[in-house]
Amino acid sequence: MSIIFGRFTLVAALAWTLTSVSPTVSAYAAGAQKLEVASKTSQFRAYIDRLWPIAQSRGVTRETFLSAFNGITADQEVIDLTKKQSEFVKPIWDYLASAVSANRLERGAKLANVNSATLDAIERRFGVDREVVLGVWGMETNFGGFTGGKDIIRSLATLASVGYRGTYFRDELISALLILQQYHVARSDFKGSWAGAMGQTQFMPSSFQKFAVDFDGDGKKDIWTNVPDALASTANYLKQNGWQPGLPWGFEVTIPHGFDYHIHHATFEDWSRQGVRTADGKPMPRSGEANLFFPAGADGPAFLVTSNYDVIKRYNNSDAYALGVAMLGDRIFGASPLHASWPVEDPILGLQQRIELQQALSALGYDVGEPNGRIGSRTRDAIRDFQDKRGLRPDAYAGRRVLEALRVR
Ligand code: CA
Repeated sequence: MSIIFGRFTLVAALAWTLTSVSPTVSAYAAGAQKLEVASKTSQFRAYIDRLWPIAQSRGVTRETFLSAFNGITADQEVIDLTKKQSEFVKPIWDYLASAVSANRLERGAKLANVNSATLDAIERRFGVDREVVLGVWGMETNFGGFTGGKDIIRSLATLASVGYRGTYFRDELISALLILQQYHVARSDFKGSWAGAMGQTQFMPSSFQKFAVDFDGDGKKDIWTNVPDALASTANYLKQNGWQPGLPWGFEVTIPHGFDYHIHHATFEDWSRQGVRTADGKPMPRSGEANLFFPAGADGPAFLVTSNYDVIKRYNNSDAYALGVAMLGDRIFGASPLHASWPVEDPILGLQQRIELQQALSALGYDVGEPNGRIGSRTRDAIRDFQDKRGLRPDAYAGRRVLEALRVR
């Protein structure tokens, strides 16, 4: 679960590597840097000392604590990575093109085949489709290709010691200590992303504690090197977060001429009655309900998405991510590419523009929560209502057109 960090991790790490070998650091700067590191080191040690009673109260033994922090220093690279925030937002069509690349489809199909018996067993036990399990695995680490080489204890302790995001990383650090204490992984193999996401499907330590599974029965929950454990843990995560067996995440649909865009939630039966059809011509599910979703506005692809789609977003709260997981999984098992094309003339807004959009809606009296650039259901509802009042097609899309309409109010 890369949370909000995952997508920038690799790029940011690469950027850091490039700048760190720059030969322009002067002797003076090098001296100043040494001082800074020294003061950070004593701060870091003081933090570890303060952490002990809290860790102890949650069941961490002195032995675990001492061996986990043996020789550990603060990691300046991790601190630097917290400062790299990307304003740049890839258009969803570019994001999906790299998420569902030909290489990934080929690797995914091979691994689906190799792990077919495991996937059967996972479907039987958890009721979660193999498509979505493979989709998460592919999106998180390219099917185990890159799981992160950062020391988990060091990264989490560094983030916790500077109070980054309140007590979140302190609590993750204590969970990580307990994972070590339970011998699921050797100290030297306890690795992951700079923000603490671990293993083949990038669990945070607290998620590991809640959802990790020893699926092959060897006594260890090994999400780093054991594929059955990693995939079953992912299925368990989705199941515990409300995955409904037998319900699809959703599918692409076509919208009839003269469609009433005010409807955005209905049963499959009602969608059929409205003339909405699956894009691949297969029959609509007989039961269940779904939201109509236009990731890039009504000129682009349309989807009916169910509550299982929202469960995928519990892994990473982003529509681009959830569609990436869903489409990658379906394509691995032979689904066709999207039928509709993307409307490149009205691209998704950048972060500042999304905040501006939310502020403008808020100024009109809509409750969109704290303007943070994250387009959730409240912002969508507000956009839909605003579009309707302005005589625009109410597709709830946070694109340039609606922002321009808000600017001229
Ligand atoms: Ca195991």
